[in-house]
Amino acid sequence: MTVQNNEQRETNGSATTDYDVIAIGAGFSGLGLLHYLKQQDLSVRVFDKADDIGGTWTWNRYPGARTDSEAYYYCFAFSEELLQEWSWSERYPAWEETLEYLHFVADRCNLKPDIQLNTAIESAIYDTEHNYWVVKTNTGETYRCKYFVSAMGLISELYIPDFKGLDSFRGSCFHSSRWPKEGLDYKGKRIGIIGAGATAVQLLPELALDAESVTLFQRTPNYILPAGQRKMTPEWEEEIKSNYAEIINKCRTHVFGMPFDSPVNRIAADSTAEEQNEIYQKLWEEGGFRFCFESYDDLLGDLDANETAANFLRNKITELVEDGETAEMLTPRGYPLFAKRPPLDHGYYESFNRDNVRLVDIRSAEPIVEITETGVQTEKEHYEFDIIVLATGFDALTGALEHIEIRGADGETLKEKWGSGPSTYMGLCTAGFPNLFMITGPQAPFANLPTTIEENIKWISSCIKHMEGNKYTSANVRVEAEQHWSQHATEVIDLTVMKYGHEANTWFLGSNIPGKGPSTLVYFGGADNYFGLLQESMDKKFPEIDFTTAI
Ligand code: NAP
Repeated sequence: MTVQNNEQRETNGSATTDYDVIAIGAGFSGLGLLHYLKQQDLSVRVFDKADDIGGTWTWNRYPGARTDSEAYYYCFAFSEELLQEWSWSERYPAWEETLEYLHFVADRCNLKPDIQLNTAIESAIYDTEHNYWVVKTNTGETYRCKYFVSAMGLISELYIPDFKGLDSFRGSCFHSSRWPKEGLDYKGKRIGIIGAGATAVQLLPELALDAESVTLFQRTPNYILPAGQRKMTPEWEEEIKSNYAEIINKCRTHVFGMPFDSPVNRIAADSTAEEQNEIYQKLWEEGGFRFCFESYDDLLGDLDANETAANFLRNKITELVEDGETAEMLTPRGYPLFAKRPPLDHGYYESFNRDNVRLVDIRSAEPIVEITETGVQTEKEHYEFDIIVLATGFDALTGALEHIEIRGADGETLKEKWGSGPSTYMGLCTAGFPNLFMITGPQAPFANLPTTIEENIKWISSCIKHMEGNKYTSANVRVEAEQHWSQHATEVIDLTVMKYGHEANTWFLGSNIPGKGPSTLVYFGGADNYFGLLQESMDKKFPEIDFTTAI
């Protein structure tokens, strides 16, 4: 797609802009934003460096990549018609189907003409004289816009550790989110996976089916929940589609944005060990994140309660993995469940019962020394590979924003402002960067993403509407409002088990990136509370924001 000729617009006092709004990212966030803002008759341009729309779902094409939220609520809620029209084939659809869904929405809402692919934004600099952003692309184009929006998602900036010798490997070696688009014939190949997070947990069982061998290099074992994958049936689809209004409402009023029946008004200490086991077993069989939310209300706040669930999961590993030594290596200890984001299992544990799968403990038994021309050298052994997949995660929340030169009113970059950790107003905006909005920016909740994204978009589009209606030229969040939110987000982490995540290198706190954490990157005070606060802010016409009009 190429840029269409766009008449320059007199949108900001006397200043001339090319677009009212420029956004980066054509995944769930960028597509949703585009849809909402088009309803307001604004000119919007969405840029994406990828060659397709889809964001996460266009980059993460590795075998086994699929949603971890159930499909029927991992989707846009803005159109009942689209909800009714689209059909999912499985409880957790693969990346291909999720990408197809996003194309369906983009086509049905006619979003594609306003999206420019293959174009990375390199800088966005706020011009205080004219109250607009000057945005430069890697293709040498410069645009001016009144509003600049990050729709880059919270987990998009990949992280590759600085392994010695990484460039010397002669086979294929790539980050998991850069799986070759043209596909990769891995049948009969020797594969090494470095990393044991949600990505590796999805990848290993798929690769193990066809590879000659798969060796997984694990530093920290995770608490892993069974997915409970199943096909969509006509009866289940009918049940969902006749209850969509209720499902969407439940998402908006749930602590993690999911349509679950919680709180359950029960704490772990109220049950005997036998009753606990029964409850956990039932939810284990059901699969998915209900295990955390429909068992006991205090799992995320109370260490003793958390331990009952953690222990249940540890025992499951012993049941599922035949080799005792491997089972022990896979068993998480020393940090609570949910201090790291729990992956969902589609046959991960059972994969270790195959002859062609091997687990290597690189934390204590044999740390990686270097990558060689032919494989991985640990302190004990050299492993020969044809392919190495770096499932080593992401510089979450701040990484993508700091990677771009984004300069605010006083010339400071976001990276400089956030040197010792980010501070934002509800993950939506940050003081000193007028008319910059972020969808699920740092200190927004980590919850079912399409729900959080859409609630963020409603606030942003409503704020822009308020500005246009009142002919305001700039919006800047009050420093006190930002400080208050950041402090609140930090205090909330201290009330939950997430505060122990630093020991387990969680990206929730930035602790997975050397030299980054711990800092408050995510709001854990409840997505439901957060959505309520967004609504209150809209109802009161954004009291946290200073609006000004150029004269
Ligand atoms: P991750 O959870 O951050 O896991 C990265 C892995 O790489 C960890 O096992 C980590 O070990 C390891 N690692 C990092 N640096 C290393 C080093 N220098 N040496 C050895 N090992 C190293 O990343 P991810 O698996 O890509 O998942 C990230 C997030 O993306 C997930 O938490 C989830 O939110 C999202 N995700 C979602 C889905 C889905 O919804 N379908 C699927 C995949 C991912 P340590 O743990 O010891 O640091």
